[in-house]
Amino acid sequence: MATTAPEPTAEETPAPAPVKFSLELSDEQKEVKDWVHGFAEGVMRPAAHEWDEREEFPWEIVQEAAKIGLYGFDAMAQFFGDETGLSLPIVNEELFWGDAGIGMSIMGTGLAVAAIVGQGTGEQIGEWIPQCYGTADDVKIAAFCASEPEAGSDVSAQRTTAKYDEATNEWVLNGQKSWATNGGIANVHVVTATVDKELGSRGHAAFIIPPGTKGCEQGAKVKKHGIRASHTADVHLDDCRIPGDCLLGGKEKLDERLARVREGKKSKGQASMQTFEATRPTVGAQALGIARAAYEYSLEYAKTREQFGRPIIDNQSIAFDLADMAMEIDAARLLVWRAAWMGRTGVEFKRAEGSMSKAKAGEVAVKATERAIQILGGNGYTREYPVERWHRDAKIYMIFEGTSEIQRVVISRAISGMRLR
Ligand SMILES: Cc1cc2nc3c(=O)[nH]c(=O)nc-3n(C[C@H](O)[C@H](O)[C@H](O)COP(=O)(O)OP(=O)(O)OC[C@H]3O[C@@H](n4cnc5c(N)ncnc54)[C@H](O)[C@@H]3O)c2cc1C
Repeated sequence: MATTAPEPTAEETPAPAPVKFSLELSDEQKEVKDWVHGFAEGVMRPAAHEWDEREEFPWEIVQEAAKIGLYGFDAMAQFFGDETGLSLPIVNEELFWGDAGIGMSIMGTGLAVAAIVGQGTGEQIGEWIPQCYGTADDVKIAAFCASEPEAGSDVSAQRTTAKYDEATNEWVLNGQKSWATNGGIANVHVVTATVDKELGSRGHAAFIIPPGTKGCEQGAKVKKHGIRASHTADVHLDDCRIPGDCLLGGKEKLDERLARVREGKKSKGQASMQTFEATRPTVGAQALGIARAAYEYSLEYAKTREQFGRPIIDNQSIAFDLADMAMEIDAARLLVWRAAWMGRTGVEFKRAEGSMSKAKAGEVAVKATERAIQILGGNGYTREYPVERWHRDAKIYMIFEGTSEIQRVVISRAISGMRLR
């Protein structure tokens, strides 16, 4: 009788077990958290009001972040590289605790980077990601452009086209992109377009528009309710010619995918949906940062503001509001960390846990900031205090990266196994 199991062959070697989920942060994660918090508190908070009023991209602050190594290729590689997946949400929560408009100006490039990492070849990743960030002395940003006037929640309705010109080995892009964060002021634009209209969203692909490409122009800049320091604009593509190798993933892979779809076989997913799915817990963490800012501020206020001869927190209605805020923020953080860990370690998302985390955190942020205004009373309603800004900033988390309703569509499909509408 054999006493030891035979060695597995190469094909049988089991995949390594995922890193265990833990709420205990490592020393390195704690250090990163404190470092980012220091920047958020010392640089972003004091600048937040001014940039909200100016409604301009805060280049000076992003440059400061780059100078200390908080913005740039190396920083993002370090945050993305954490094998537990928790560094990225931790960094985002701290930055957005500092300010959401400036936070988005620092992290907005990450959406284009995620698309390049998710869909690009090794060569494309090496060539373009450094160009998305530039250097500490010459900071650059990037934009991810999927949305269009007729294609918001319904990504499949995109009308922007990409046609291949065999004679020149170039792609020619035409169309209008809307709502692009960093759109028009970015060094690198990642744009989704349809290469075969008949195939709906399965005929989409993503392209890099190199810096200074003719035919890629900023359209109208959007004047927004919140995150006003973040730049949002339309992007017009007018006979915009880009080299053949700017198709993410390469032409051979695209042709194979289209052939599979035309034969009625399953495709591996839609270009833009892949990107959104991978980034949802990170976006949830941003909302958490705003929620925590509002909770901490209103807790302190309630302990010091006196009416009827006692602090207002001595009224159960206010104390319970704060207790609810604390509970909801912690619950949302658990969902965000779970989804971030699942995404990084490759645990299958069976119940749309990424969408759950984003929807929950976004709604918690809106509720928490609304309650914070109420706790501050008249002061909460003025621009002299930050809570009205946080309330305006929080609302976007129920809209972009998939609205709260769309998250529920995704979740209800996942839990039911049915193609619900
Ligand atoms: C500040 C800001 C920054 C943005 N940045 C980017 C970016 O960088 N890149 C990018 O590509 N896009 C970006 N967007 C676009 C964003 O992703 C879209 O606004 C979002 O997807 C919603 O699309 P929509 O605005 O067209 O709303 P619509 O899709 O028209 O939705 C309107 C309403 O109808 C509801 N609805 C729609 N369909 C359904 C359904 N099937 N079931 C239930 N309810 C439904 C929605 O939930 C919503 O309440 C940004 C938007 C904003 C405001």
